[in-house]
Amino acid sequence: MDYTALRRYSRQVSVGGVLIGGSSAVSVQTMTSKPAGDIDGTIEQIYQAAGEGCDIVRVAIPSLKDVAYFQEVCKISPIPVVGDIHFDARIAVAAIEAGAAKIRINPGNMENWEAINQILDAAKKAGVPIRIGVNGGSVKHKNKDDSRGMEEAVVEEALEYASRFEDYGFSDIVISAKISDALSTIRVNREIAARCDYPLHIGVTEAGVEEDAMLKSAIGIGGLLADGIGDTIRLSFTGEPVREVIAGKRLLRAAGILRDGVEIISCPTCGRCRISDMAGLAREVKQRLEGIKLPIKVAVMGCEVNGPGEAEGADIGVAGSGSGVLLFAKGEKLGVYSRAEAMDRLMVIVESMG
Ligand code: SF4
Repeated sequence: MDYTALRRYSRQVSVGGVLIGGSSAVSVQTMTSKPAGDIDGTIEQIYQAAGEGCDIVRVAIPSLKDVAYFQEVCKISPIPVVGDIHFDARIAVAAIEAGAAKIRINPGNMENWEAINQILDAAKKAGVPIRIGVNGGSVKHKNKDDSRGMEEAVVEEALEYASRFEDYGFSDIVISAKISDALSTIRVNREIAARCDYPLHIGVTEAGVEEDAMLKSAIGIGGLLADGIGDTIRLSFTGEPVREVIAGKRLLRAAGILRDGVEIISCPTCGRCRISDMAGLAREVKQRLEGIKLPIKVAVMGCEVNGPGEAEGADIGVAGSGSGVLLFAKGEKLGVYSRAEAMDRLMVIVESMG
């Protein structure tokens, strides 16, 4: 079933023209990691991220003097920039006036509600949405060892802040509730999703280094997407922002939400495999088809006995056989070729489908 059919209803907000929620595409975000003030380094990271399909980028603004740097970044960035602000409402107001497409705050660590209301006034005037970002680590919950209690506190805090924003007349809201544990992330976001219709930014926070973080995020974010929950995502991990974007896009493709290129499926091989370098062949097919924007499925299978059957849903199949490489399209056998010839023919078939 495709994501549209099971997607939770959510309101829509516009972040500098990129829509979050409603029927808009699930967007991919990242956050720059250069020190505040390093305009060149930050812009370089943003261009790299945008080049890999990043939709929205977040930049930390640690102090009031860093707003000038943020303003420059907003002017040059090819994609909408979100200001990330803690503790000081004056920074948030200044960031909005400096061109932020959205700001992210945790109302729980701002001075008081009078200060927060000033942010809401500025955001409303500028038409800038606000992400209420509540994290498991910063939630006001007494017993940090009680994970269920912490989860409830995250849900209640996020919804309470949203309700106070609404009471003040501000409803351009995105909510994020992030926890470093994948299953807690799922439970918390399911609960929030059931109790409001705000668009949700989802991610597993402090997920670790790349390989671990991808697995955690595949469970946390993937589990929510499988429920139709999630309007924008960030795969956060320790490393370059562009890597987060590549991983985020891969996750959306793996979930079947993003269909912007050729999907390669390949068998794990077994004792029936007729190709000596199956992993190499699968990699070669992947490389050859890299960058082709056709929503088709290509299967690379180790044998001709089970391969075509196992790749039944694929548009094109490549399978090992005793006399060479068998090609098939839409389940029909096209012929057996040498590996090099099979690769060339594969490209011709793909081009004819475009
Ligand atoms: Fe084994 Fe053939 Fe299935 Fe691959 S396609 S797993 S080689 S039976």
